[in-house]
Amino acid sequence: MASISLRHIYKIYPGDVTAVKDFNLEIADKEFIILVGPSGCGKSTTLRMIAGLEEISKGELYIGDRLVNDVAPKDRDIAMVFQNYALYPHMTVYKNMAFGLELRKVDKAEIDKRVREAARVLDIEHLLDRKPKALSGGQRQRVALGRAMVRNPAVFLLDEPLSNLDAKLRTSMRTEIIKLHQKLATTFIYVTHDQTEAMTMGDRIVVMKDGIVQQVDTPQNLYDFP
Ligand code: ADP
Ligand code: ADP
Repeated sequence: MASISLRHIYKIYPGDVTAVKDFNLEIADKEFIILVGPSGCGKSTTLRMIAGLEEISKGELYIGDRLVNDVAPKDRDIAMVFQNYALYPHMTVYKNMAFGLELRKVDKAEIDKRVREAARVLDIEHLLDRKPKALSGGQRQRVALGRAMVRNPAVFLLDEPLSNLDAKLRTSMRTEIIKLHQKLATTFIYVTHDQTEAMTMGDRIVVMKDGIVQQVDTPQNLYDFP
């Protein structure tokens, strides 16, 4: 469980490219936040800074009450789900989900319990012995979600997780991710350039343009015009 505080966050890439400029946001524990905006507006960079995959050039990032600017990704109590799934092709679904916990020396029985519970929730129990190449896109994305879930993170970061799926599957996965958020009762930060996802999924929407936050509001306030 964690609130997140972004205070005057900047990202300046080499060559003086300001990708994110003075980003300020207080995210409540268990909130579902959407980051939306056109390609290149700084969504991914923001998410990667929260994950610790990209250094923060200026400003302060708190997860809970801990300043995490210099904390390694693995020590941030977050899990990230990528657009391209990033599954290990030579490992089974089970192993893909278990591997991160094995590296952290989690007890084998505990790993087994968490993998099976995540597989049950995501309805992929029957796929545990398969390799990723024998899965559909939707199934792969479930495995990627499962791999994040087994870590019981306080914060889920999702970077366009549905953009590689066809339109029909995207619609059903949207609903499933909303349900997953309710079930896990953790903080979600979800990046998308898709207006429908932005309108239907989050508690609040952060609209970005050219590295700058334009608006932060509920979907109702942003999209319903009297
Ligand atoms: P989005 O996720 O909204 O598409 P990004 O965060 O990926 O946007 O990119 C924001 C800006 O930062 C873009 O102008 C992009 O070209 C630039 N950028 C992203 N990654 C790098 C990098 N590693 N080096 C230099 N510039 C980058
Ligand atoms: P490797 O061949 O690299 O050891 P495996 O995929 O065989 O990787 O799995 C490693 C561990 O995970 C083993 O202890 C195995 O018992 C367990 N495991 C793998 N798949 C399953 C499964 N479907 N159900 C239960 N345990 C599994």
